[in-house]
This record gives sequence, structure tokens and C-alpha cells, in this order.
Amino acid sequence: MAKMNAVFLPGNKQVEIRSVAIPQPGPDEVLVEIKASCICRSDLSLYYGNAVVGGEAAGACITGHEPAGVVVKTGEAVNEFAPGDRVAVYLAVGCGVCKHCRSGHHYLCAKWRCLGFTADGGNADFLKVPARNLLKTPDGMSHIAAAISTDAFGTLYSACRKVGIDGASAVGIWGLGPMGSAGVLAAKAMGGRVVALDPIAERRAFAKKLGADLVIDPLADDAMDQVREFAGDEGLTGAIDCSGQSAAHNMALDAAAPFARIAMVGEAAETTIKPSDQMIRKQLTVFGSWYFGMDEYEDILALISRHGIDLERLATHTFDLQDAERAFRMFDQRETEKAVFVR
Ligand SMILES: [Zn+2]
Ligand SMILES: [Zn+2]
Repeated sequence: MAKMNAVFLPGNKQVEIRSVAIPQPGPDEVLVEIKASCICRSDLSLYYGNAVVGGEAAGACITGHEPAGVVVKTGEAVNEFAPGDRVAVYLAVGCGVCKHCRSGHHYLCAKWRCLGFTADGGNADFLKVPARNLLKTPDGMSHIAAAISTDAFGTLYSACRKVGIDGASAVGIWGLGPMGSAGVLAAKAMGGRVVALDPIAERRAFAKKLGADLVIDPLADDAMDQVREFAGDEGLTGAIDCSGQSAAHNMALDAAAPFARIAMVGEAAETTIKPSDQMIRKQLTVFGSWYFGMDEYEDILALISRHGIDLERLATHTFDLQDAERAFRMFDQRETEKAVFVR
């Protein structure tokens, strides 16, 4: 039986490259030859052995939930895709018929499985998925850009859309890892003015290059004054937290204008805020945002192409699958923005 290489993260910072059988697609499935797959902050939960999805069992699956590549084989019931199609892959595999699957939010399905956590993912030479999980990408889009267009850019596109960013918006983005950086690109393309905040100087410099109007060290004494001066009038009309830090939540809520909309994207087990002063009397809308609906992907591609957004700029490091141990170590130590396995 033909074999392929696949990356597993059993925990305790172990990275294992195993030789496994190339999967064969069932009637409604396809086999994708993976050309690019990104490392994500959530993969580090596997790396450390406390998976955010799937618990203890998660380490048993091939990792990688942000893959892109080319269809090489289709099951007999697949009519909408053919070998040679360029695709990105949606990470949530649902039942396909419940209300959440039908609305494009497969990650809310009671039976959902998550690529890279509870279903085999894309850090391998090939990936078998249901055809309905494929997101067709344009011929002119690189595989790296296609992979980044899913969890990194797609997630922040969805958050920015829910925040309601337009040409009159003043938006703060806290946490400038790959998510926050993608947020800068999306918010600027939607027409907002953007202030981006991170304690790491290199990350601020990178956000500036991506188009942030102002970058601020949130630990600086005058950080809040700078945000207020940038926002003008009553404060920020929108904010996105990608840091998961309580200090950032508080700063965003304090800097928000009445009726502002605040998206929490960075994972946080708990936080402490002051609802009366920060939210209630300012009529804020504070909400969580996770990944994106499949129905949003057409608009994600449209925003990327109409604004000429170069997603590959977010991929500061590329690695061979064989180099997975170094890739995860560098990503863990925040030495990279988006790190991508390429073949
Ligand atoms: Zn991810
Ligand atoms: Zn379902």
C-alpha cells in the first residue's frame, strides 16, 4: 500500500513524522494533494498536550487544520470537483444536514469533527475529506495564500465584518500574531482606520508594514492616551482582541465609544472586566468570533482579489514537512508570524 509522511503532535513538545497509508476517498469524498498547510496558535495546544478541541484523543490524528492543495482523486458521487482543481479546505466536518451545517457553520454541528484534532488533517502529503469541505480557490492564488485565506484571514474577515468596519470606523486590534496581522489587512481593506497594539516591537513594525495607521506598545505609560487621541471624539468604534489577555480586554472596553462593537477572537479561559462602566452604560456589543461560515468564503476571496491583498506576506517562514520539529519550536517561541509547510 502506498505510503505518505504525516506530522503528529502527541504532546509534551514531541513532534513525530510517521509513514502512514495514503487514504482512499469514499463515494462523496476527495483526495487532495497538499501543497501548503499552516501552523496555528491552536496547534500549540496539541504540542503541549492540552488540546483545545478533542481533549486527550486529539494527539492521535494527523495535525494541520489550514491546508490547501490540488484535488487528485474524487469519489464516484462527487460531481462538483475534479482532479486538478485548486482548493483550500474548511476545517469542520459536519453531518451536512443539520441546521448549522446547512447554514455553513459546520463547527456548530453536534457531530462535527475538526481537521487536525479529531479528524486527520493536512500536515501530510495527502488529505481525504468530504467534497463539501472544499473551498475552490482561483488559479491565480498561490497555495500558501489559499491556506492563509482560511483560519488566519477568513477568521479575521468574519470578525471585522461582524464589527461592522467601514470607512468611518476607528478600530483597535490587540495582539499582532498571525491573527492580528490578518486583522490589520482585513480591516484596512474594509476601509477602517486601524490602531494595532502588541508589546513585541517586531510585531508592531510588521503591522505597520501591513498598513496599520498607528502601532502602540500597550505596556507604555501613555498607551491609552495614544489610543484616545487616535480614535478622537468618544473612542474606538470597534475593537478586536486577538491576545486573549485580560489587560487587553479591559483596554479595548475602556477605549470603546458608545455603541462600539468588540470582537473577542484570542482564546481565553477567563477574564475580569467591569461591565457597568465598560459595557452597560456605553451600550456596547461584545461578542465572540471563531473561524468563519462557509457561506462567507466567496466574499473573503472577493475582498482579497479586489484589494490585491497579498496574504503571502503573512507567511514569514516556510518549512519542509521533515523540518516539523524546528517549525513548531520556532512558532512556539514566537520567532515567526505564519509558519507554513510547503511541498
Ligand atoms: Zn488555525
Ligand atoms: Zn450537522
